[in-house]
Amino acid sequence: MTGVDITALVPRYFSALTDIPVAVEQPTGLVTDRYARPLHDLRISVTDRCNFRCVYCMPKEVFGKDFAFMDRDELLSFEEITRLARISVAHGVEKIRLTGGEPLLRKGLEELVAMLAALRTPDGREVDIALTTNGSVLALKAQALKDAGLRRVTVSLDSLDDATFKAMNDVKFPVAKVLHGLDVAHSVGLGPIKINMVLKRGQNDQDIVAMARHFKDTPYILRFIEFMDVGSSNGWEMGAVVPSSEVVARINAELPLEEVSPNYSGETSRRWRYRDGGGEIGVISSVTQSFCHSCSRARVSTDGKLFTCLFATEGHDLRALMRGGCTDEQLSTVMAQIWRERTDRYSELRSSQTGGLRASGKKRIEMSYIGG
Ligand code: SAM
Ligand code: SF4
Ligand code: SF4
Repeated sequence: MTGVDITALVPRYFSALTDIPVAVEQPTGLVTDRYARPLHDLRISVTDRCNFRCVYCMPKEVFGKDFAFMDRDELLSFEEITRLARISVAHGVEKIRLTGGEPLLRKGLEELVAMLAALRTPDGREVDIALTTNGSVLALKAQALKDAGLRRVTVSLDSLDDATFKAMNDVKFPVAKVLHGLDVAHSVGLGPIKINMVLKRGQNDQDIVAMARHFKDTPYILRFIEFMDVGSSNGWEMGAVVPSSEVVARINAELPLEEVSPNYSGETSRRWRYRDGGGEIGVISSVTQSFCHSCSRARVSTDGKLFTCLFATEGHDLRALMRGGCTDEQLSTVMAQIWRERTDRYSELRSSQTGGLRASGKKRIEMSYIGG
């Protein structure tokens, strides 16, 4: 295979260089953007590598053996990540999710979890630390992660059928190993455990009801996610999206459901519970029903760029500031300024002009780099 021009696909080298502010300001525990959305959640990608090649995320044709993943010194160190997290918490972040790539491939991740678990909100509360993983090595790591202070884990699982799952992860990884990881995570007390199933029409939508049935009456909360047009390499098309309304209708026809009110404002998942008391499911309708109006999420890429939207084409290079000797006060001021200027509402705009946004010509950031 010939080398792939990754700069054309993953524009991590083209980022906004932010000036170091001359005047600094103190964090107040609340910073809001141009649409009055507070900064509340932080997702941190700890590696751009993964042992899966999910067709909707890291297709093999792009992320093949010649793909240039980042060198170790390009990655933020645990100290750098914790520094950004601490400043974010001072601005009002209450939830931190570690993601990737596959976060459990980052060596010593439990040390980072312990460092983050020591953070406190301005009024002295613990920060909610969570992790999204493909579950492949969860059985090995669950206890250490729990001991380090991890609270919750979300495990991705796209099918219970081995052939379907292997075709979707594209590395022939078996379902049974992920299910075992789930069991171990549950037994060590990580919870509530959520399961993410990304739906791609014609690939795994035939398994919707089987998945629902399997996880009904268990401690696990299954969530169905619409296939998103994130990145520039997953060949997204609207026809491959299974709308959440269809998911709910298909399950409801066999296992009656009723809608439940959200746990908190800004929750991305809409909740439904089984009428017979068998637990609940969630649907994440990122494509058919945007939730930009309440989006309070910032993302830090593996190499320390701050993105204010999953569909951004440009990040703000916080690593350059940190490695250039920026003080905490300066970094804090930069982060507040970036958030205050935020106007992102990609999904809302997409709903009103599908096609037009993709035609803009700008390369978008890949999910494995920015963290889902
Ligand atoms: N490797 C970990 C995993 O798979 O859970 C964490 C990173 S992955 C990028 C985070 C989440 O994004 C996963 O639940 C994955 O299924 C989801 N995801 C990736 N690409 C997606 C896409 N194009 N549309 C919707 N969800 C996607
Ligand atoms: Fe890897 Fe997660 Fe992307 Fe699948 S969704 S390729 S497991 S990063
Ligand atoms: Fe948030 Fe951007 Fe997604 Fe809208 S499109 S919900 S602003 S990440």
